[in-house]
Amino acid sequence: MENRRVRVRFAPSPTGPLHIGGVRTALYNYLFAKKQGGDFLLRIEDTDQDRFVPGAEAYIIEALKWCGICPVEGVGFGDGPHAPYRQSERKPMYRAYAEQLLKSGNAYYAFDTKDELEEMRKRMEAGGGTSAYNAITRQSMKNSLTLPEDEVKQRLESGQAYVVRIKIPRNEEVRVQDLIRGWVVVHSSQMDDKVLFKSDGMPTYHLANIVDDYTMQITHVIRGEEWLPSAPLHVLLYRYLGWESVMPQFAHLPLLLKPDGNGKLSKRDGDRLGFPVFPLEWRDPVTKEVSSGYRERGYFPDAFVNMLALLGWHSSGNQELFTLEELVSEFSLERVSKAGAKFDPEKTKWFNQQYLRKRTDEELTELWIPELNAKGVKAERGYIVKAVRLIKEKGNFLNEFWSLGSYFFERPEKYDPEVIKKRWNDSSMGFIKELKEAFEKLEVFTALETESLFKATAEKTGIGAGQVMQLFRVCISGLAGGPALFEMVELLGKQEVVGRLEMALNQLERKHS
Ligand code: GLU
Repeated sequence: MENRRVRVRFAPSPTGPLHIGGVRTALYNYLFAKKQGGDFLLRIEDTDQDRFVPGAEAYIIEALKWCGICPVEGVGFGDGPHAPYRQSERKPMYRAYAEQLLKSGNAYYAFDTKDELEEMRKRMEAGGGTSAYNAITRQSMKNSLTLPEDEVKQRLESGQAYVVRIKIPRNEEVRVQDLIRGWVVVHSSQMDDKVLFKSDGMPTYHLANIVDDYTMQITHVIRGEEWLPSAPLHVLLYRYLGWESVMPQFAHLPLLLKPDGNGKLSKRDGDRLGFPVFPLEWRDPVTKEVSSGYRERGYFPDAFVNMLALLGWHSSGNQELFTLEELVSEFSLERVSKAGAKFDPEKTKWFNQQYLRKRTDEELTELWIPELNAKGVKAERGYIVKAVRLIKEKGNFLNEFWSLGSYFFERPEKYDPEVIKKRWNDSSMGFIKELKEAFEKLEVFTALETESLFKATAEKTGIGAGQVMQLFRVCISGLAGGPALFEMVELLGKQEVVGRLEMALNQLERKHS
């Protein structure tokens, strides 16, 4: 066991878009594999054809690519030695294992109809018991443990529908060792005889999952906490199939919780609380309903991945910002917490802001230029780079740049009404006039020079500089807030600033008279 090459898998079912909890599972698998120099696989678990959703598989692949956490083998990423990686395509290989379990007496055929199962459920519930198909209830049902051998044979030969169920022992402790939770002990009386295989030749999740993990030589199963209740069953399957010595180690990851900590973060929370719970936008193929995604909201994939990594794991120090390579070298399952991780939408924005600031002005310019071109903006690249330097301090997202800094490229169309209401009066208007005239005469139009001239003009007109600072900003940008005022003035340049002051005087004077 010790000498096996580490191999882990992400095994989603294509039943809808991948939730961010699923992306985190994929990420932890990826980080663990890379750290150990092992392999990360993608397997599509599509045995439940009733829950199949068109487009879901392509979505999963695209989401992993966007995040930059690409498997080395798997659907959409190239075949390795264990192809195919879609369970529906592996269908022929499961029957033999169901038969092996039948032969060893660890599984049995059951022929109960839907109505018979329903009747049993009612009967058990009326008696105050659980309705599970288990060591007790199986004795009064139609299966190969209760029916005479020749009747079983005859039913099978006549092609009657059946399922194969695992025969859970009546009185046994099943122990699962979890790398995050330690020993988890479940009594077999709490377990039920789960269906493993159906007469249409399709395995259920449980059988397919175990067979695939075994045949794909998976060494560690890292998955969400919602699968912990299935783990004892999986342990028994490994035992009954004779694979205990190569059974993977389990690690069940903590749940992602709603921002208030009350319950699991659900698909519905996102749009209700105003943040995405999906990596990419998703359009439901049936209802056409659109759920928002981090990519479309303007998140950088590295910021998104960094944020996700810290939902349930922490580093040895207090560091919060990690590149993917740093995450790989820092990651360990020992520092994954048992307790659920509260999702914090504000912190998520903070991560993007940090990554925005980490990008160089040149990089951001490159990313922004397509939007500027689409708006028909004509500006020199050097000018855009300088505008970006000022704008990026104020935003969390690239897609806010235009609303934060369009005034670098066009004159304002309106002026912040609050500021105007509060600050525009005869004396401030007089000041703006004076300032415009002073600026016209200023030869060296730098931040430093314009600022001292601004102060001197305020003094000269007998108005407090603090009284007119924001008004001046509104006159040239339209906005009440923004980057360092005089740097903005320097970048806009003398002609533009003077022109804008003149325009403001005309427009605002007209409004007030
Ligand atoms: N197909 C399961 C899912 O959708 C995989 C569980 C596991 O990793 O074993 O999450």
